[in-house]
Amino acid sequence: MAAMPATTATDAPLVPCALCGSSSYRRVVDLGWRRILKCAQCGLVRADPLPSPEEKLRAETYDYEQDVACPEVQDLFANYHRDFVEDPIIRRMRQHLADLENVTGGPGTLLDVGAATGIFMHLARERGWRPIGVELCETRAQEAMKEFDLDIRVGTFEQQSFDGVHFDGMSMLDVVEHVPDPLAMLRRAHALLRPGGAVFIAVPNQQCLLTVLVNTYARLGGPNAQKLLPRLYVPLHLHYFTPATLTRLVTTAGFQRRLLRHAPVYLGRYTMPLWMKVPLKSILTVGGALGMNGRVEIVAVKA
Ligand SMILES: [Zn+2]
Repeated sequence: MAAMPATTATDAPLVPCALCGSSSYRRVVDLGWRRILKCAQCGLVRADPLPSPEEKLRAETYDYEQDVACPEVQDLFANYHRDFVEDPIIRRMRQHLADLENVTGGPGTLLDVGAATGIFMHLARERGWRPIGVELCETRAQEAMKEFDLDIRVGTFEQQSFDGVHFDGMSMLDVVEHVPDPLAMLRRAHALLRPGGAVFIAVPNQQCLLTVLVNTYARLGGPNAQKLLPRLYVPLHLHYFTPATLTRLVTTAGFQRRLLRHAPVYLGRYTMPLWMKVPLKSILTVGGALGMNGRVEIVAVKA
């Protein structure tokens, strides 16, 4: 078997690494219309080119369920309404809130960045939190407010002023990987929390066994690589975190890390045939046993 080709250095991209400022990158994979690069200094993985703010807004306000880049996820949000079913994703969200409460000392004011369907804010309120949400997509925010009777501000996180409120808790579920400048986002989060307040972050894990296998397959020139890669590197994701780079993100922003957990991906809401689901589940299960799970979660506290 031929040795795996070494990754090759690429031309310096226009935008330096959001985490360490380096302009030295190595190519992870190439999707044709975008490259996935890894910072040679800190290891943060990112898409190149990054979209302009206008392109980003257009992409994020496009109906998520209709995102045809990945048909398997079309039903992912079907269970986020008032009559939701207690599936593993809902139980996981309750665990996120318990993790946050363990650090903050209990429920209080909560800012949910990327409120989406509002389900997380609803679950938080059930436990005694007083949640405010921020959501980029106006249609989605309106639906969430109507469904769960919530206070959600429309726009980017950076655009919002909260009248000097210092929050007890903050949540960013599948959000940090969507933004062009995650460090600026976490620095602002730090400024908006009270001392002793904490942020809960959950992101896909770039060190997931499935991702590692697909990357290797693509680098070896696998014939189906261009079908697989867009499912891993969806257009809305701009950065790809590992436990190490996520930890570096929060500590660089001034936080102390209190909890780091690997979590499995729940496939129950994905629409895919058995021939796809069974091997995928096997890889994810083996990955979990090897400490290469599909998701990373972190709780970081403002000291
Ligand atoms: Zn870097």
